[in-house]
Amino acid sequence: MSDTNKTGRLYIDGAWREAANGATFEVRNPFDESLVGTAADATGRDVADAVGAARTAFDTTTWPTDVDFRKHCLRQLEEGLGKVKAELAGMATREAGIPANQANLIDSVIEEVAWTAGLMDRFGWEVTLPAAEMLGMSSSRVVRQEPRGVVGAITPWNAPTGMNVGKTAPALAAGNTVVLKPAPDTPLSAVLLAEVIAETDIPPGVFNLITSNDNAVGGDALTGDPRVNMFHFTGSTAVGQRIASRAAVGFRKVVLELGGKSANIILDDADLDTAIPYSVGMCMYNSGQGCLLPTRILVPGNLYDEVLQRVVAVAEAMPWGDPRAEQTLVGPIIRRGQVERMAGLVDRAREAGATIATGGTSGHPDFEKGHWYRPTVVTDVDETAEIAQTEVFGPVLTVLRYDGRDEEAVRIANATRYGLGGFVQSTDAGRAREIANALRSGGVAIGPSFWVAPDTPFGGYGASGIGRERGVEGFLEFLQAKAISTPATTNA
Ligand code: NAD
Repeated sequence: MSDTNKTGRLYIDGAWREAANGATFEVRNPFDESLVGTAADATGRDVADAVGAARTAFDTTTWPTDVDFRKHCLRQLEEGLGKVKAELAGMATREAGIPANQANLIDSVIEEVAWTAGLMDRFGWEVTLPAAEMLGMSSSRVVRQEPRGVVGAITPWNAPTGMNVGKTAPALAAGNTVVLKPAPDTPLSAVLLAEVIAETDIPPGVFNLITSNDNAVGGDALTGDPRVNMFHFTGSTAVGQRIASRAAVGFRKVVLELGGKSANIILDDADLDTAIPYSVGMCMYNSGQGCLLPTRILVPGNLYDEVLQRVVAVAEAMPWGDPRAEQTLVGPIIRRGQVERMAGLVDRAREAGATIATGGTSGHPDFEKGHWYRPTVVTDVDETAEIAQTEVFGPVLTVLRYDGRDEEAVRIANATRYGLGGFVQSTDAGRAREIANALRSGGVAIGPSFWVAPDTPFGGYGASGIGRERGVEGFLEFLQAKAISTPATTNA
């Protein structure tokens, strides 16, 4: 990976440019606070220009209707991303502190583009339905899938390229034009994506990039612009709610991928040798900065002491440190404010009577700089405690006890406003499956498995979001159906 500082500019209407007022902001590495580069700090005028370019490209070019050309462009995107995947992975580590071995997930991002390009071949862009009688007329119908228009794609920092590409590629494949606004922490990963797109045949205005240090300028300017038809957002529940309310003006479509507090139910027949390393590893993945991670373990009373002891041992052995090191599983936290926030949550739990079985401290003994929180296990709380209800977004695992009945485990698992993921550990496939069916969440992993893949819908129930991404279900979100009827007796 290159350690050279990068200068990011805005990409609007097929051209690179500075912010209208020339402003820039610094991007700092959460590991050692070193400078990663600078990004253009867009003004409201830049946002308006980007939306205007996307609007014009949608309204005046053949992009929305030329499926073959779009497929050609998507294949170019896939190829282009493949050429810079080391840079993309390196940038995720430098900008967001994502451990290097996890930043390599970039392969699955490219696979997602390939899957979407493949879907374009077999997708029912127009489906003819057999004749039907209505109002005394016999009609044939064609159902056409049409793009929505300009998509505002707003992404978080915790998987920058995954999120940027995961929104941009299907939005473009469906025939929309895009204005991408990444998180202020990770603008440069998005600049790398724009550089790849600039080398493809994707026409000017079809993809535009706005980077901004100020959510009110970048985010609110985008959601306040009536020329945007759809918002595809991943981020916190609070911001998602704000975007939904702003999108309601003009009845604009939203897809919202929000927070989570996923439960992981250990049944009394679980194979603990497999279940415990998996459970703790998944919770601490990406330093605990993931929306779907199993951050609440539910343990039957008769196994509680043994499970807790094993969980603590795995958490304490978790390789925690320099995100560039191949063995590191838990790296730094994105920014100081996030460390303070999670320390506040754990400290308040302690004051309220919780036991901090391990961790519970900020900082790292080996590093003077950077933003750190030690892998932590909190116990002796019930499911209503703040720490058991709030998304921590850091390496903090809460262990909850239940009475051993499956229905009680399900009740506790569902006792949250979120509903993104669920996890079940059992050696009885039928029992685990019944629990999976009863969990109110958009995805469930039984045993050491993971449901996320390019062809699989991903999304949340309740406060975890609206809509789905990935899979055919996710692709359909970027489209709207139009039905055209003709008299059944004619071939018109
Ligand atoms: P965030 O909500 O603070 O920011 C997300 C994006 O929204 C950023 O680009 C930010 O600049 C932008 N934004 C902020 N205020 C805005 C406004 N008023 N208008 C428009 N845009 C605005 O979230 P974050 O801290 O970047 O990411 C962490 C959150 O993301 C967590 O809650 C996590 O659960 C969630 N997340 C969800 C998923 C999922 O798929 N469900 C995946 C990853 C992260």
